[in-house]
Amino acid sequence: MEAPAKPREFYLAQQQLGGRPSEEAVAVLKQQFRGRFLDHDDPRLTEVVKGYAMQAVAYLLTGEAFCDDPDCRLFNAHWQEEMLCAQTADRYCERHASILAARRGDER
Ligand SMILES: [Zn+2]
Repeated sequence: MEAPAKPREFYLAQQQLGGRPSEEAVAVLKQQFRGRFLDHDDPRLTEVVKGYAMQAVAYLLTGEAFCDDPDCRLFNAHWQEEMLCAQTADRYCERHASILAARRGDER
């Protein structure tokens, strides 16, 4: 089990390959869903890691875990597509943007 999850259709297609699919079959499957989940050496990995680091920082600052806004970097994504959307846009919701901006001001 991995989290956040890949697209639901990926798991369905994987199931149809049977219990021990060949490496080639898995490669073809991954190619079909390319871009919709993170794979090893994905260039988006850095942005995603930054977002998760900011979730830890925001938790320390506010005492709240995660955000309900799917466009905010602090959103608690359950699906990789949601995570990639929230993380690669590099945006915070208005509330978190102002909390983080105020914090930056404190340190000057
Ligand atoms: Zn937010």
